[in-house]
Amino acid sequence: MDPKCKFPTADEIDKLICAEIPDKEKDPELYNIISECMIHGPCGSANPSSPCMEEGSCSKLYPKQNVKTTNIDKEGYPVYRRRKDGHFIEKNSFKCDNRYVVPYNQTLSLKYHAHIYVEWCNQTVTEEGHKNLQNENTPSSKDEIQDYFDGRYVSACEAMWRILAYPIHYRQTAVLPLTFHEEGKQPIYYREGESAQNVMDHDSLDESQFLALFQLNKRDEEARKLLYEEIPSKFIWYGEEKYFFRRKTRTFAIWRINYVPPTIDDAYHLRILLNSIRGPTSFDHIKTMNGVVHKTYREACYALGLLDDDKEYIEGIKEAHFMCSPKFVRKMFVRMLLLAVLSTPHIV
Ligand SMILES: [Zn+2]
Repeated sequence: MDPKCKFPTADEIDKLICAEIPDKEKDPELYNIISECMIHGPCGSANPSSPCMEEGSCSKLYPKQNVKTTNIDKEGYPVYRRRKDGHFIEKNSFKCDNRYVVPYNQTLSLKYHAHIYVEWCNQTVTEEGHKNLQNENTPSSKDEIQDYFDGRYVSACEAMWRILAYPIHYRQTAVLPLTFHEEGKQPIYYREGESAQNVMDHDSLDESQFLALFQLNKRDEEARKLLYEEIPSKFIWYGEEKYFFRRKTRTFAIWRINYVPPTIDDAYHLRILLNSIRGPTSFDHIKTMNGVVHKTYREACYALGLLDDDKEYIEGIKEAHFMCSPKFVRKMFVRMLLLAVLSTPHIV
């Protein structure tokens, strides 16, 4: 926008918005509409029971001041022209003068013949300090939600979006996480300052979604036929009770086992196994292939044929060995280790 267009002048506002009673002789139609739709009150002492009255005064701040010309106040808000011209409209036998006129736009009022309150929207940004100044210095007084309201800026687009009541959030096909962890590495929750012994005595220590899966597989034959990510199709997880219940309604949600990057070796391979092994009842069960309990999840993956062999990488190193310096070959191997592309680097 051109900078000179940003700040309204009184003339520009007057062209669009008026807060005075129209001339009855010159413009009788507009006069009728304004007297019918755009006169506030009467309120104040003339009508203390008016709906706008709060604690003895008008909540909309009527009657306004008489002002000779439109101007912009210190905060950047427009103050509309309301001259003392002797015009008034009688309402409930009270003479309402220009101070009682709700700002209107002539064209809109004439076209719609309705109460259309028009305001000049400015671009002022106000900054307010934290309201709870008393406890400002204590860390516990920090109110992040209040800070957000104090610090947010509602733009014209956002304001219109909300006025028209468009949705501000929605969820389409819920995607929910299935958690898992390695043996003895379930998350533990405890209060600040709680002793280690107390934490270790918590009943919740052995309660995790993943451990509950083992219990479910031990007691339910149907569950044993399912992969972990298929469990929610027949069972529903109640986090508070840490228990999988049989599903009664046919609701739909997509469940995903939490992602783990390849660099977290054990958890990564455990996740691969969970996508292949049905009905595990213990951590050892997951590592067991053909009656052999493997030491690591990676070895179990390998035994199950889930990992590619490293043939192409081995061939690559062999080829480099003929053409490149030993230093380059070592670098190449290190890069393969860092990128975790090798399934069994100790064999390579
Ligand atoms: Zn009022």
